[in-house]
Amino acid sequence: MKRKIVLLGATGSIGDSTLKVVRANPDRLEIVGIAANKNWKKLAAIAEEFNVPNVCISDEAAFDEGRGAFKNAKMFRGAEGLLEISTLPQFDTLVAAVVGTQALIPTISAIKLGKDIALANKEILVMAGKFMMAEAKKRGVKMLPLDSEHNAVFQCVRGERKQDIQNLIITASGGMFRDYTYEQMKSIKPADAMRHPNWDMGVKVTIDSSTLANKGLEVIEAKWLFDVSPDDIEVVVHRQSIVHSMVRFKDGSVLAHMAPPSMTFPIEHSLLYPERGNPILPSVDFSKPLALDFAPPDTNRFPCLKHAFAALREGGTATAAFNASNEVAVANFVAGKIAWLDIPTVVGKTLESVENGEVGSIEELLERDRLARIRAGEIVEKLRG
Ligand code: MG
Repeated sequence: MKRKIVLLGATGSIGDSTLKVVRANPDRLEIVGIAANKNWKKLAAIAEEFNVPNVCISDEAAFDEGRGAFKNAKMFRGAEGLLEISTLPQFDTLVAAVVGTQALIPTISAIKLGKDIALANKEILVMAGKFMMAEAKKRGVKMLPLDSEHNAVFQCVRGERKQDIQNLIITASGGMFRDYTYEQMKSIKPADAMRHPNWDMGVKVTIDSSTLANKGLEVIEAKWLFDVSPDDIEVVVHRQSIVHSMVRFKDGSVLAHMAPPSMTFPIEHSLLYPERGNPILPSVDFSKPLALDFAPPDTNRFPCLKHAFAALREGGTATAAFNASNEVAVANFVAGKIAWLDIPTVVGKTLESVENGEVGSIEELLERDRLARIRAGEIVEKLRG
């Protein structure tokens, strides 16, 4: 029996890695749907190679331009199309790998239909973790973590009892500016923030890695995926990105997961779980000296991480506000409107000034998200003076 997959974000970097995993395991995985925002040419090449019967192009102008390139596929258009392709009857697992929060409603709808979710799209869990996990529990749906850190934790806790876990230790490469002084940070440009030392990823996540906002999102994601309290999550800077995360047990033992820094390892593990897939890239090489080092993060130089923990401790809609304000800040930094150092300022000031508290529905949550984005936009304008 092949696992049938719908892949949202097929043309992005997680999409690329997912396709490598499918190529390496053609007898066990099959792509029955793909979606992308604008890049229909790349999507057409994927549709042809994997003979994909269902294709969604979210951007409506790109859909109209590109639809003729898909001869043998059923086509889906726009935000409505993204929801339709995510709720098709003929697949088992939704791979959610789009940027930002547009996959929220499609993913929750897929959970309601009992589809397993392979989640790379951390923003939607950060925003709506309470609703997604409650729905997943109700339907017996597996939430398979594609993020390398969460996949590492998932592998370390397998077969262990929950009550034996002391804490989760999430590793961080430290990003591009881990050795920068405050003075050097003042003049960081978007192009500088796009060069990650270890990983090759999309724009948003690379900028987030440079501020440690990505690690903050991952801490929040870990809380939801593994049902632990904020005090039971620790972050450690590990420059080599070989140890992808660790779990400390009550007896003091620590288990670590190691692999070279490529997303094919966690994606293959998640999509074939509980089986192991065929080798794609070489494993960790111990035939040469290999030094691994670990150090605590400096949250004074990287306040986004501090803000994420504060939002998680506060609970309610604070984590949604953390995510929303960070998205607004990053977009404005990329557009050259604010400085890199302003990103944590926008996040911190938004968290201080928006209304918080529990909400009872996704609609209310989306409204809080909208208000946080407006507030963050106002703070951006103030900073620009
Ligand atoms: Mg990660």
